[in-house]
This record gives sequence, structure tokens and C-alpha cells, in this order.
Amino acid sequence: MKLSLLACLVPLVVASAKPGAEIQQRRGANTTTLACNALKQAFSSQVFVLGDANYTTQNEAYWTPTDYLTPECVFTPNATLEVSTAIRIIAGLGATFAVRGGGHMPIPGYANTNGGILIGLTNLNEITLSSDESYVSVGPGQRWEDVYSYLEPYGLVALGGRVGIVGVPGLLLGGGISFYSNQYGFAADNVVAYEVVLAGGQIVTATATQHSDLYWALKGGGNSFGIVTRFDLSTYVSPTVCAGIIEIPSTEKDAFLNAVASFGEYGSADAKAAVIPSIFMLGSLNITVYTSALFYDGTECAQPALANFTVLPAIENSYGNTTTLATYVKGTDALIGDGTRQVFRVVASYANAEALQIVHDTFVEMVTADIWNVTGLQASVAFQPVTKNFIQQGINKGGNPQGVDISEAPYFWMVENFSWTDPADDNRINAFAQQVTDVIEQKLTAAGQVAEYRYMNDAGLGQKIFQGYGDGNVVKLQSIRAKYDPFNVYTDLMPGGWKVANA
Ligand SMILES: Cc1cc2nc3c(=O)[nH]c(=O)nc-3n(C[C@H](O)[C@H](O)[C@H](O)COP(=O)(O)OP(=O)(O)OC[C@H]3O[C@@H](n4cnc5c(N)ncnc54)[C@H](O)[C@@H]3O)c2cc1C
Repeated sequence: MKLSLLACLVPLVVASAKPGAEIQQRRGANTTTLACNALKQAFSSQVFVLGDANYTTQNEAYWTPTDYLTPECVFTPNATLEVSTAIRIIAGLGATFAVRGGGHMPIPGYANTNGGILIGLTNLNEITLSSDESYVSVGPGQRWEDVYSYLEPYGLVALGGRVGIVGVPGLLLGGGISFYSNQYGFAADNVVAYEVVLAGGQIVTATATQHSDLYWALKGGGNSFGIVTRFDLSTYVSPTVCAGIIEIPSTEKDAFLNAVASFGEYGSADAKAAVIPSIFMLGSLNITVYTSALFYDGTECAQPALANFTVLPAIENSYGNTTTLATYVKGTDALIGDGTRQVFRVVASYANAEALQIVHDTFVEMVTADIWNVTGLQASVAFQPVTKNFIQQGINKGGNPQGVDISEAPYFWMVENFSWTDPADDNRINAFAQQVTDVIEQKLTAAGQVAEYRYMNDAGLGQKIFQGYGDGNVVKLQSIRAKYDPFNVYTDLMPGGWKVANA
């Protein structure tokens, strides 16, 4: 960083920063070019443009090519202070920008930009265990598998993704469903502090007692409030776990769905158990298979809570031996599609057999009838059981903006995932994903089975997210947002993502 230049530049652009309408007027290609040039002056080796190898690396650091866009330049900060300086420059000039953590949200433009500045957080990859080992400080450039590997020698875990390659920041800002959520709530319920760069460039720490409104908002309010540059995550003792995947033939479909419904209804009985039951439909192979990740936080793998699954005749079964969380998630990386086109859609219901059957039957029938011949098609639904205890944990830890209604728990929070290979099929799949979700929701509603809250991190473009947050929480989020970002920097200049102002 050229400090002498920054010393001149930063006060200049901050002094010239003006609210709302004026920022709008000055915005455009020109302001972005000015901001890219100013960033280049300040951080010459960390700003990349089309033609630079690092530009391509950063622009393609996403799970799916549907997220590769055309930022005018990419900035890769190495420290929180550099994020702060960049925000002063960018907001001062009224340029548009996007922020990427792990790049796993499969919605084009939510963590990237056409024509704006992409701030890629890859290098903010601090990871430090506190001296009393009660929390781990993690930078937003980290991925969950590296957090788990770092903690493994201490016999500790933190709550995060059940897939290791997923990024830390996006998952936490949307809530975060972990293998340990049945015991401890959302991953975000277990964040003890956030370091945040606010819209004016100020760096603050939000905790339960310091900027406590911001702290609450960040536990599920998304990216409308600032750029989080450090998360302090509670650690838990879990040196050994049982984890594996079973694959069940479609002939055992009914028994499988019974096991899922039963876990959905009674999963609170043993909070150490977790499952991710899913249907996988593979068009090119003309097959449908039923799978589930099975997890138990302990050393004894034969557990009554999982018996309805383990008793099924499996085609494959890797559950049964002890391992560590880090080893398990690393081992499953290869199973996660990478490089294909992807879309998510979320559906929520009460956890019972009727709701499950509606979702299963509608999804299977419609996929088979409408998109079975799409090249490279994989269509899946994961039925994520959300127990009463999961929700209770969030309440016990001070509450969160999701405000999920515990009186109606347990739930299934289902994520539909479509993956394909040919960009020519993008419109067809996007339209289908929306249509099948609408039909499923109509049927669930008619049966009195649809649930209000939809999980942000599994949602698709256009789905209503904050509208399902608990009573009064949207208004509260909006007023916290206005307090910390009165000129809408993280809403108007950074338009990508789920925005509380637009709810
Ligand atoms: C294969 C796969 C497995 C998954 N498994 C799980 C799971 O087990 N549990 C679960 O809960 N979810 C899971 N998800 C969903 C996941 O939580 C979301 O996709 C999440 O957004 C990914 O975080 P990221 O940092 O990689 O995302 P990104 O795409 O980088 O970011 C997502 C959003 O967060 C914003 N953002 C990123 N970093 C910051 C920051 N530091 N400050 C402010 N805003 C920021 C971005 O602007 C963007 O809008 C999975 C997703 C995939 C693709």
C-alpha cells in the first residue's frame, strides 16, 4: 500500500462522499473507472483488470460458472484496514461493487458484478484459537474444511457447513445449518463477535454487549450492514464423530421416506444425531437414488436415532466407523459437483409424512415430465429436518432475526438443487425451478403444511426471504440497517444479495 498517496486520497474522497441522490447521479462507468484507478494507486499489486491472470482466477472463484460475470476490476484486500480504505474510496466516488467470500451462493450477481468492482476476500484468511480455546477467530476468506482441520488437533469444532468447500462468511450471514445445529442452533447463534467495516469505513466489533443491535442483525440478516472481516466462533469439544453416507435403491423409497418423516418429527430426542436425506435424480443415467448423510457427535455409531436409516438395505454405506469432522468433510468434497451450472430453490414445510410425500411426489413427477432430457441434468431435493431444539438454542443464545416460530416446529427446510451443463438450458431450468417450487408450495398450502420461514442460503432469485422472518423483525432489521448505513452503500452501491431494505 502506498501510504503517502492514501493519506491524500482517502480524506479527499470521504470528504466528497454525499448521500443518496448525489451518489446516484455520480454513479456510472466513469465512477467505477475512477474507483478502480484510485484502488490501483493505493494497492498496486492487489487490483486486477481483464487480461490479468489474477482477474480470471478471482472472477472464477465461484462454485458455478453461472456466477462468473465481468467486473471492471477486482480488488483483493490483505487486511481489514485495506477493506476500510477501499470502502471509503468506492463509496466516496459512488461506484458499484460486490463482495465475495467462498463464492458458493449460486445466484448470478449476488457475490459478483457486471461492470462494478469485485472485492474478493480470499486473502483475509486469519485463523486463531483464543488462549482459553473457547472461540476461534476466522477471516472471511476461509472455507469450513480448513476451519475444521485447524481445530482438529485441539479436539474442537465450530459450527459451520456440512460441506467443507463452502465459504465461511456467506453461510454465517444467512444463519448456517451445521451437523451440530440440532444441539446448538444456527451456526450464527454461535458467533460471539463480528468485526465489521461499516459504510463510512469505520471498523467496529459487534458483540452481545457492544453494537448489540448490529450483532443481532448479522446473525441472519445477510449483507446489508457491512463487510464482516472477522468472525469469532464458539468452539465445542467433539474430537470424534460418526459420519458417512448411505445410498438406498428406489425400490426402498417408502421405507426411506418413513425414516425421514420419523426423524423430522422426533429428531429432538437425540440432539447429537443429524441427517441430510436427499433424492437425487440423474437424467442422463435415467435413475433416481435416495441418499442421506448420517452424523452422530460421539464415538458409538450404532444409535437408535439413526436406526431407521441404517436398517435399510443400502447400495452403499460409509456410515459406521468413527472419524473426525475434518476428515469426513474433506472426504466428501469429491461428491460435490463443481464447474456445472447450478440453481437452488428453497421450500419449507412442517415436519411430517404428509408434507414430505407432497414434496417428493410433485418434484419427481415434474422433473421426469418436464426436464428429464436436459443435458447433464441432476435434480435433487435435500429434506433438512429442523428440530424444536435447534430453534430453542437460538432463543437461549439471545435470539436472531430469523425469529422462526418455535411453536410450529419441527420443520423440513428443503433445498431443491438443479445442475446442468449447457448454458443454452439456463432459461429453461430457471423457469422450471420456479414453477416446480410454486406448485409444491400451492399443494403444501392447500394441505395446511407450508411453513413461513425460508432459509436464505438455500434460496433462489426472487424468493421472498425476510418476509418470513418472525414478527417485527424485518422492520427492526431495516432500522438497524438505516442506522449503520444511512446512505445505502451496502444496498444501492452493493446491490447483490438479499437486501433487507427491499423486503
Ligand atoms: C455445495 C454447497 C453446500 C452447502 N452446504 C451448506 C450447509 O451445510 N449449511 C448451510 O447452512 N448452507 C450450505 N450451503 C449454502 C451456503 O451457506 C451459501 O451458499 C452461502 O452463501 C455460501 O457462503 P460463501 O461465503 O461461499 O458465499 P458467497 O457466494 O461468497 O457470498 C454469499 C453472500 O454473502 C455476501 N458476503 C460474503 N462475504 C461477506 C462478508 N465478509 N461480509 C458481507 N457480506 C459477505 C456476498 O456478497 C453474497 O451476497 C451450501 C452451498 C453449497 C453450494
